Amino acid sequence: MKFEKDIKIILKQELVKELEICVKNASPNEACGLIFGKIKTNEIAPDDFQNLYEAQKFNCIKSNKKSPVAFIINDVETLYRVIKESTQEDNSRVISIFHSHPSGSYPSGIDYDNMKQLDTFTKTFQQFTLLDPYQIWTIMDAKTFKLNGFIFLDGEIVQIDVVIK
Ligand SMILES: [Zn+2]
Repeated sequence: MKFEKDIKIILKQELVKELEICVKNASPNEACGLIFGKIKTNEIAPDDFQNLYEAQKFNCIKSNKKSPVAFIINDVETLYRVIKESTQEDNSRVISIFHSHPSGSYPSGIDYDNMKQLDTFTKTFQQFTLLDPYQIWTIMDAKTFKLNGFIFLDGEIVQIDVVIK
């Protein structure tokens, strides 16, 4: 898998704790949620850009489904409500779709399908959706709480840098 060092998601330790609690509460099912924040683009050298996804808050989504991440694609109403409620308070946007795996923190085949589908959806219906294209997919291992980040770029999954402060 490719690694893109110029795309980083930056999370505070307290927010990572919230992710862990969300994962613990959902166990043995997968946890799922949305990370809100801002995206900053810095030019670190001429024509060399760095995209920083700065996490500000997290919304853990309760679900009794085994793979709740499917709601992001299938349950547009729930998605719309969760995003509306969270973004009303400030100007933050959804920057990352979070979920957990029973073990391991790399995308599954289903994740690949969801990432691809969301990529197409957000680019095709940009004016109708509250989700921006180029979401980071954060995946946490429910055993070790290891957190990885991924983005769907040019038809493939690319791993990105997760920075915990
Ligand atoms: Zn997954």
